[in-house]
Amino acid sequence: MTDVLAIAEHRRGTLRDVSYELITAGRELAEETDGELHLAVIGGHLEEFTRLLSKEGVDVIHAVSNGEEFNHDVYTQIAEGLVEEIDPGVVLVPNSVNGLDYGPALANRLGRPLVSDVTDASFDGEALSTTREMYGSKVETTVEVDAERTVVMIRGGEWPSADDSGDPEIRERDASIDESAVRSTVRAFEEVGGGDVDIADAEVLVSVGRGIDEEENLELVEELADALDATLSASRPIVDSGWLEKNRQVGQSGKTVTPKIYIAIGISGAVQHVAGMKGSETIIAINTDPNAPIFDIADYGIVEDLFDVVPALIEEFER
Ligand SMILES: Cc1cc2nc3c(=O)[nH]c(=O)nc-3n(C[C@H](O)[C@H](O)[C@H](O)COP(=O)(O)OP(=O)(O)OC[C@H]3O[C@@H](n4cnc5c(N)ncnc54)[C@H](O)[C@@H]3O)c2cc1C
Repeated sequence: MTDVLAIAEHRRGTLRDVSYELITAGRELAEETDGELHLAVIGGHLEEFTRLLSKEGVDVIHAVSNGEEFNHDVYTQIAEGLVEEIDPGVVLVPNSVNGLDYGPALANRLGRPLVSDVTDASFDGEALSTTREMYGSKVETTVEVDAERTVVMIRGGEWPSADDSGDPEIRERDASIDESAVRSTVRAFEEVGGGDVDIADAEVLVSVGRGIDEEENLELVEELADALDATLSASRPIVDSGWLEKNRQVGQSGKTVTPKIYIAIGISGAVQHVAGMKGSETIIAINTDPNAPIFDIADYGIVEDLFDVVPALIEEFER
């Protein structure tokens, strides 16, 4: 029997999607060994968060009141205290900016091995087996953890979100913090890359690549995004050219997205791009090159000039 403790994530008053994905991952691991799934949520709007996180398969939610926003020292201390109390075999942390900030420190304090950026995890008998990608997502590796107690950081967008409601036990608690060990404070919040669009939340993404040729042509794909009520995203060269903000970039060094529909327009499908969008439910690609790698993963492919196809689509959707 291995209990699992998953640590939810929130930002600026909203739970991040990865919190629900952690529940699915944690539930699978706990079920495999007949263990319990504990969930911790630290700070923020605890009443609302515990209600939203009350999903089937969650046994206990630890709602720890402490501040509004993430703080490295506070999260590390609180998580360490919870682990010492619950003694879970696996601690699940999001492989997010915040998670990468405190996850390794937590593992270090607990003296546990850490497996980061995990895309799959299961128990192979007693041993925990995890999947990671290497060499720019070209290779998938299996890492078997040679320890009974581990910290595992999971990549967002790899597990489906838990959405079936449940009735976990809620344990409310005030954090007992050693203030002398808190050496950082969050004084302000600034979104890097400008804008408050989160492409990871979009259900439909119209994504544009170098095939668009010139910045002024972006207007065309923006029109298509408007006609579809979709969000605009891009491959890296578009962002590197300064044509769109960094928060629109899909891929290994951008965001991982899992929309219902992903329309790749003039995007070749390089591994670093595909790493960020392969989890999309339906992929539609428009590209003049029939051998473009994007067609290997597309559900529907249009081998045509985007400057012919996109206006035709806009006309059709505006009808
Ligand atoms: C460490 C590292 C990290 C990276 N991270 C990312 C990342 O996060 N995201 C990312 O996207 N890339 C990333 N890259 C870059 C990546 O390797 C590719 O260079 C990039 O994805 C290519 O973008 P693209 O498909 O838009 O351009 P291209 O590869 O140039 O493809 C353009 C495509 O448009 C098609 N085309 C041209 N004209 C038309 C037309 N008129 N109509 C239809 N199709 C047309 C072409 O056939 C071609 O397939 C990274 C690279 C490195 C080394």
